[in-house]
Amino acid sequence: MAAGAPPRFDTLAVHAGQAPDPATGAVMTPVYYTSTFAQDGPGEHRGFEYGRTRNPTRDALQGCLAALEGARHGLAFASGLAAADALLHLLSAGDHVLASDDVYGGTFRIFDKVFRRLGLEFSSVDMTDPANVARALRPTTRLVWIESPTNPLLKIVDLAAVAALARAAGARTVVDNTFATPFFQRPLALGIDLVTHSTTKYLNGHSDVIGGAVLTSDDELHDRLRFIQNAVGAVPSPMDAFLVLRGLKTLHLRMARHAENALAIARFLEGHPQVARVVYPGLPSHPQAALAARQMSGPGGMLAFSIRGGLPAATALLRAVRVFACAESLGGVESLIEHPAIMTHASLPAAARAALGIDDGLLRVSAGVEDVADLIADLERGLAAARGA
Ligand SMILES: *Cc1c(COP(=O)(O)O)cnc(C)c1O
Repeated sequence: MAAGAPPRFDTLAVHAGQAPDPATGAVMTPVYYTSTFAQDGPGEHRGFEYGRTRNPTRDALQGCLAALEGARHGLAFASGLAAADALLHLLSAGDHVLASDDVYGGTFRIFDKVFRRLGLEFSSVDMTDPANVARALRPTTRLVWIESPTNPLLKIVDLAAVAALARAAGARTVVDNTFATPFFQRPLALGIDLVTHSTTKYLNGHSDVIGGAVLTSDDELHDRLRFIQNAVGAVPSPMDAFLVLRGLKTLHLRMARHAENALAIARFLEGHPQVARVVYPGLPSHPQAALAARQMSGPGGMLAFSIRGGLPAATALLRAVRVFACAESLGGVESLIEHPAIMTHASLPAAARAALGIDDGLLRVSAGVEDVADLIADLERGLAAARGA
């Protein structure tokens, strides 16, 4: 390593935001379970006054997340949707938000059922063609909300192109980077203003915390978001901050294995006679494989496939698997498989699901870090059960 070279990603994942505890030398960041901090005299404190405003365990997590996204600033929240809530509180009545047409369901719900009532305006377009974004921007557009890869069909949005269009129109951009994680995609380096995460997924990585984050290098946006974090108060507990921080220490190891296993599963499924189609950005058959390869350093751990035989076949497979759990959510060390039309995307009307390509045989896989031979054998068991279902 050249002298003075900044630490690389894998080193940041283990160390960023964390120095041995100044009081004791504890190498692991202590869980500071305290709501208040003693002051030497009125207003004479050491940077910490009250736990909603600032907590040392949360500080460490925020510092680590910011470093991994290449951001100057990081803020942690009690959930991914609490992070979305903070971002939307940057806006005022009359402002317009332009979103990807297949944003996470809970994100659509907070747009449609919470902030629309308060006077924000929302519209959505298929952002895989930046020309659609150019056409849909309005003079009142203040925020462009992007997901890439999307859920569940893993569409890829050209982040640099959309960032440039939004900037020219005076709008800010946010990328929900939950699926890719900063290990595979760093939107700020492509001109995006804000990154948000559900840390519930890959960043924590062990399916035992609900959490969220917002990262930015814009000082003014950060100051306003930090004000909102304290004023609204949707902060993570010290224990949850500690757990996500611990999860981050193996992010690079886990993500590499998630992607390796996802690719092997995708290749297995693509060659299978019972499978009508496989969607994975790491397969040459993905319609945006070239963009994914340019924009991301790897295709991630999520894939989707359509089983022939529709709902009865899909149901039989889901009942038969033993290593995969049939469950919502994603990004943990354990492999999950789910049926978007019935589970994660049930709130979408059937016509909207059809328009997005979510058919009744579609299954979404979050490839875990188990031995991939066991995962493929499990899918073979599921496919055998689906035969003639
Ligand atoms: C899960 C998820 C969210 C919401 O996060 P919570 O932690 O469940 O509140 C937002 N965006 C994406 C892409 C998600 O997968």
